Amino acid sequence: MKKHNFSAGPCILPQEVMKKASEAVVELDGIGLSLIEISHRSKEFVAIMENARSLALELLGLENQGYHALFLQGGASTQFLMAAYNLLENKAGYINTGTWSLKAIKEARILGEIVEVASSQEQNFNYIPKGYQVPNDLDYLHLTSNNTIFGTQIKDFPITDVPLVCDMSSDIFSRQLDFSKFDLIYAGAQKNMGPAGTTLVVVKDEILDRVSRKIPSMLSYKVHAEKDSMFNTPPVFAVYVSMLTLQWLKDLGGIAAIEEINEKKANLIYSEIELNPVFSGFAAKEDRSTMNATFNITDDTLKELFDEKCKEAGINGINGHRSVGGYRASMYNAMSLESVGVLVDIMSELEKKG
Ligand SMILES: *Cc1c(COP(=O)(O)O)cnc(C)c1O
Repeated sequence: MKKHNFSAGPCILPQEVMKKASEAVVELDGIGLSLIEISHRSKEFVAIMENARSLALELLGLENQGYHALFLQGGASTQFLMAAYNLLENKAGYINTGTWSLKAIKEARILGEIVEVASSQEQNFNYIPKGYQVPNDLDYLHLTSNNTIFGTQIKDFPITDVPLVCDMSSDIFSRQLDFSKFDLIYAGAQKNMGPAGTTLVVVKDEILDRVSRKIPSMLSYKVHAEKDSMFNTPPVFAVYVSMLTLQWLKDLGGIAAIEEINEKKANLIYSEIELNPVFSGFAAKEDRSTMNATFNITDDTLKELFDEKCKEAGINGINGHRSVGGYRASMYNAMSLESVGVLVDIMSELEKKG
């Protein structure tokens, strides 16, 4: 039986993407060779890479807007350093909204002065700071749009002339935003786009020459942009699966269409958490993530029963991160409303038992 996969990452992907990807490992589109044994310079793979890059820009509404989409390696974690390498000359600002922001700050500090412009650390990151002033002498302001571990999500981005850099690893392609407000967006594929192994970087051409330091080739956005993400051998499988997922999303109607479904899923689970006394939400209501719902069980005597019912129903991956505890239901793009319904039915059954 296929399970309902609520894993936070690596995560659920569309079944039809899995099927096509597995076929391509054996033979790519009838060419008599596997996707993973052909040259990355072959016309077949070059077309895949071009398609993946243009689908990413098209879905984000950034085609012909002076941006490059890059498929790189090293995960979002490499971007913590790479963003600073390419953009930090003197001083940058960070909004500290959780574990991933902290890691980004730690790496950037290697290269320059970092100011924490706002933080929600004093409340274990259960909300998104608002109403802060962005100093205008920053090289950039770094934000984490969705806090995968804590289940909070930025709904309104600051209005500022300072270039915005955003880690969108866990909510890219999930909701409509004016993506042209950002100078740099990065996202590890394995949350909402593909398997682990590639990271999407969307970079504004204007910022490719920002700093005076020498940048090692592999860490230079400019090098990767000039080489169309083919400076070295790209992670062909991860790029291919990402391309299939982006094509799936486009066929579905793009970000507008998936956003509607994502909101339905989030409303379904959050209204259960609110109405059902057996559960309590972790994140502040106005900052709740549509991707990762974090919650606790209020009556510990029901925990065993809840876990057992979830297991019986084939629900996978809802244990909370160790820094929050409780539960976390991740509902990325490929998660169906029906699967969320299965979980919510178990939650509401528990109320009757309590
Ligand atoms: C998972 C995650 C990361 C880390 O991604 P890696 O690809 O494992 O380096 C960074 N930021 C956010 C918001 C994440 O959810």
